[in-house]
Amino acid sequence: MRAPGFTGAGIDRADQLRIDEAALRALVARAEARLLQLAELDPVLDGEGRLVWSAVEARADLIFLGFDGGAPLFAPLVAAAAPGRRAWSVLRLLALMSPRDAAIWGAARSLNEWHARHGFCGICGAATSSFRAGWGRRCASCGAEHFPRVDPVVIMLAEHEGRVLVARQPQYPPGRYSALAGFVEPGESIEEAVARELMEEAGVAVSDVRYVASQPWPFPGSLMIACIARAEADAIRLDTTELEDAIWVDLAGIEAALAGDPQAPFLAPPPFAIANTLLARWSAEQQRERD
Ligand SMILES: [Zn+2]
Repeated sequence: MRAPGFTGAGIDRADQLRIDEAALRALVARAEARLLQLAELDPVLDGEGRLVWSAVEARADLIFLGFDGGAPLFAPLVAAAAPGRRAWSVLRLLALMSPRDAAIWGAARSLNEWHARHGFCGICGAATSSFRAGWGRRCASCGAEHFPRVDPVVIMLAEHEGRVLVARQPQYPPGRYSALAGFVEPGESIEEAVARELMEEAGVAVSDVRYVASQPWPFPGSLMIACIARAEADAIRLDTTELEDAIWVDLAGIEAALAGDPQAPFLAPPPFAIANTLLARWSAEQQRERD
């Protein structure tokens, strides 16, 4: 079974070195040290779809990503990064990239976007600057230290008598359906967020929420938590401010969608999206139960 997208970077993040400035200078000077090339926040790929790396020069604005074997990997802190900007073209690049490269680039993108959004202290409003080798920002005025945030998002399939619920948002490409998703709110468990989102967006009451898999999603810094829940009934009451349509699809339909069959009831989400992983895992479970 394929791992979720943006996972499997295989890097030793070596957190203990992030505060050791002498050690970091020595790492930058190593012959095997490499610097990730970015075009603003987007990946730069060679002719074979691999990330492009260059030699590292000593400079203040570096993010230490960790070790790939013995090689220290760095990413640039992109000064001109425009927060929130995501060109759809990056999704085409992702389709070319190996899972490992996507994971490494995803971490660099997420961190850069966090830096771009946190130039000023949330406590006193003064300017902040990067520290901990790019894994934090410190306020020069009040001394507060700020650390990269990860926003939990639940993404889920409701399951009812051998069918699962998929839905489409108006901005999706034609034919595309995916799992429902939403941010976890303060004061809420994962299970409660799953149940609330399914009720709010589709009017579907669920129980028995179970965790399936997770993935970091670097637009800008979510942790997608994929779950399956048991629906009490299959009536749908759609929230049309969020969704254009929602349908129940059986195993044959899900298998056809994942296989890219033109006769499938919908166009599956791309392989690097965890909705694809979620549909594939549900499909594999159903096949095991059937066999
Ligand atoms: Zn401050």
